[in-house]
Amino acid sequence: MSLRFYDTSARQVRDFTPLHQGCASLYLCGATVQAPPHIGHIRSGVNFDILRRWLTYKGLDVTLCRNVTDIDDKIIRVAQAEGVQWWAVAERNQRAFTAAYDSLGCLPPSVEPRATGHVPEMIELMRRLIDRGHAYPAADGSGDVYFDVRSFPTYGSLSNQRVDQMRASADSDSDRAKRDPRDFALWKGARPGEPSWDTPWGRGRPGWHLECSAMSTKYLGATFDIHGGGLDLVFPHHENELAQSSAAGDGFARYWLHNGLLTMGGEKMSKSLGNSLLIPEILRKVRPVELRYYLGQAHYRSVIDYSDDALREAASAYQRIEGFLTRATEVIGAVEPAYRVPDSFASALDDDLGVSQALAVVHGHVRDGNTALTEGAKERVADHAAQARAMLSVLGLDPLSPQWAGGDGAGLRDVVDALVAVALEQRQSARARKDYAAADGIRDRLLEAGVAVEDTPRGPRWELRRG
Ligand SMILES: [Zn+2]
Repeated sequence: MSLRFYDTSARQVRDFTPLHQGCASLYLCGATVQAPPHIGHIRSGVNFDILRRWLTYKGLDVTLCRNVTDIDDKIIRVAQAEGVQWWAVAERNQRAFTAAYDSLGCLPPSVEPRATGHVPEMIELMRRLIDRGHAYPAADGSGDVYFDVRSFPTYGSLSNQRVDQMRASADSDSDRAKRDPRDFALWKGARPGEPSWDTPWGRGRPGWHLECSAMSTKYLGATFDIHGGGLDLVFPHHENELAQSSAAGDGFARYWLHNGLLTMGGEKMSKSLGNSLLIPEILRKVRPVELRYYLGQAHYRSVIDYSDDALREAASAYQRIEGFLTRATEVIGAVEPAYRVPDSFASALDDDLGVSQALAVVHGHVRDGNTALTEGAKERVADHAAQARAMLSVLGLDPLSPQWAGGDGAGLRDVVDALVAVALEQRQSARARKDYAAADGIRDRLLEAGVAVEDTPRGPRWELRRG
């Protein structure tokens, strides 16, 4: 099967053919850095990281551009409330986002442009739109520049709406001098005490939509392959990006992919809910790789309704995989990932990135591998372990990869191993003298420290556990 995706614009699944053979260009709307990320934000990063890894596995040279919106009403409001500079708020939260992406194993983008670094490109795009009759500076001299929605007949095509039925664009306080309430701001005129940049139409600051059109085409070209983002961005953000770039004469995105949202108790995440779902909070309950498994396992277009139980189930599922690979290497030594992934795994991912079906294939190999371990069939163990590693590395979930096995942590593991061995010897001698209370006490103390001990026919083995 060839690679295919559900394209929001076409409202159907389409075969993916890259613009340039052997390459794929991908633009992903990144963070507006007014607050640190909760897991709803990072879900998008994980979903598109899996897409990027799959495209790379398929032999494509992937360029991923993920922007940072570092100027915005909300950032300014946070800065004013805290009495700090707007750029300090943006810096601080951008670092939190980067740390979260890194800790969940999302590969860094090829380029991560910030809005405020691309004002000249935005001015040029506005000039092209004004010259073509698709945008106008506000007649009141405020410095606002608006997109003229009525001048662009296909406005609404991405979100499948007709202009007549659209609500007014809520992107400026006063709708200063808009020709039509649905016109949206490309540029926002300066207000006292707010950051602003010079343009031929007065001082002001970037509108959110304009920056993504300017940055995507700067780094990926006037036409590029895939535009991604959360489903909540389809309207107005992506509709407006599409209108700006198409009206300026650019081909823009050839495929639109949107990930589903993360809810809690069926509700969209509010700020108060979001606080309990900040990445460091969640990482007190599970390890980063287990959170990645949780966010990545559902189909990217489905809704994830967050619950602690579901998170723990995902962690257990990951631990089953990890347990097999650890036992396999204990029995047969180091196992390299297979050169190719199984066909059933490949066709699951080719079919609109069916990660749940792909993981079912992984778990099938883990089950069969465990049976082979019980039967002492070392060749079959090696084969299942190699296949599992190949598949897991495509998903960014290989427990034996340096990311998750811990390059520097490997040395530490030897130290812990030696210490646990001392504790287990003491437990063994307590048992020998039938002091079961002492033996259980040692086991409980280890568990409190995060070391779970399991007695196996080949003697006790341990692993790190959380939660
Ligand atoms: Zn965007």
